[in-house]
Amino acid sequence: MDSYMIQMNTKGNAHSVLGGRSSSLGKAKGRKARWSVQPSVMANKTFNPIRAIVDTMKVKPNPNKTTISLSIGDPTVFGNLPTDPEVTQAMKDALDSSKYNGYAPSIGYLSSREEVASYYHCPEAPLEAKDVILTSGCSQAIELCLAVLANPGQNILVPRPGFSLYRTLAESMGIEVKLYNLLPDKSWEIDLKQLESLIDDETACLIINNPSNPCGSVFSKSHLQKILEVAARQCVPILADEIYGDMVFSGPKFEPMARLSSNVPILSCGGLAKRWLVPGWRMGWILIHDRRDIFGNEIREGLVKLSQRILGPCTIVQGALKSILHRTPPEFYQDTLGFLKSNADLCYGALAAIPGLQPIRPSGAMYLMVGIEMEHFPEFHNDVQFTERLLAEQSVHCLPATCFEYPNFFRVVITVPEVMMLEACGRIRQFCEQHYQSAEGCHEDCDK
Ligand SMILES: *Cc1c(COP(=O)(O)O)cnc(C)c1O
Repeated sequence: MDSYMIQMNTKGNAHSVLGGRSSSLGKAKGRKARWSVQPSVMANKTFNPIRAIVDTMKVKPNPNKTTISLSIGDPTVFGNLPTDPEVTQAMKDALDSSKYNGYAPSIGYLSSREEVASYYHCPEAPLEAKDVILTSGCSQAIELCLAVLANPGQNILVPRPGFSLYRTLAESMGIEVKLYNLLPDKSWEIDLKQLESLIDDETACLIINNPSNPCGSVFSKSHLQKILEVAARQCVPILADEIYGDMVFSGPKFEPMARLSSNVPILSCGGLAKRWLVPGWRMGWILIHDRRDIFGNEIREGLVKLSQRILGPCTIVQGALKSILHRTPPEFYQDTLGFLKSNADLCYGALAAIPGLQPIRPSGAMYLMVGIEMEHFPEFHNDVQFTERLLAEQSVHCLPATCFEYPNFFRVVITVPEVMMLEACGRIRQFCEQHYQSAEGCHEDCDK
């Protein structure tokens, strides 16, 4: 067998390499005594809190009521928010052209990267094709950014409450997660003092998610500037998850972080999933902003190398990108935001009138967080139990915010059709009225 391999190998050094190994091949030394196939450390360290919490919920929906799911962050599930016809047409055209059936470069076609660069280019934060890496959804963009910035044993700063993927990815890669607090009473602004206190020599990056999942909050320009001051003072690069960029329906407009700083290096992650309402198409990107040349060539090349592990997004979507970005009519975006605003107002208004609940008014993205005044619901120990009983009794499914490291809240998705939203709020009201106990009532109960 060895001689066969040596014959096949035409390289001059094959003899010595294989010759060296062949002497040990015959020995039984390396063989295992019995089968033992174990999942890897990486697999075991991969933990998705949403799956862990939702899949272990013991309860079933009430069979007498149709289930309303306010838990899924996918705007397509109810069919009420289709993407624009121009977007689907762009995909059909790309497919029919037969030009996109081969392998693309691992970071995406040059022409597609040029389109993304020119779409997001502005004088304060210029972009060229070389600053764009196309990825399989925003998720892969985040994964590549973490992989290029952090080594095992280093740490990253992650918002609480926050999108659970950051922790899932980081911990499977051996990167420590440090949670910084968002303040519900300040429209979910960051507790900047606490944030800064977490930073140490091993801090590899600061993740900012604006607009936010799960909070639906949008940071003001001045707050973003203060965050950038912390990053500049502490020399920590920023990973800006801006997948909900421009999805703002009230309050101040969305400001891309990179436009507000000329010295902090920023990797901005985005994609088609949310704003264009096609999460299944798996098109994301990284925009590299590095005007002080702090990332330099090393980080760029690192990202390119990492992208080569698996090629980026589907080539058909890459081919459609130019038309998607340029031909989607402005009314499409306006209509989506109009719908989200009206649903947010409706939901906030309805929930704010319910005793025991404290919704926080959202101004962007597709979510609303609701505080549960647990002292008024002594039957339930936490948000997981609260949402479990809500599902069992009223067939309304909301995610307990423990999934986002934020107990005693739950998250409502506001992309569902208006009638469903109203029906769900009515049922949540009924549920709360049935279980609400005034503070004194609780004391009496506790004394018994
Ligand atoms: C949905 C979402 C993503 C992931 O987007 P994909 O393009 O579907 O991978 C990333 N970040 C946040 C905050 C999200 O809500």
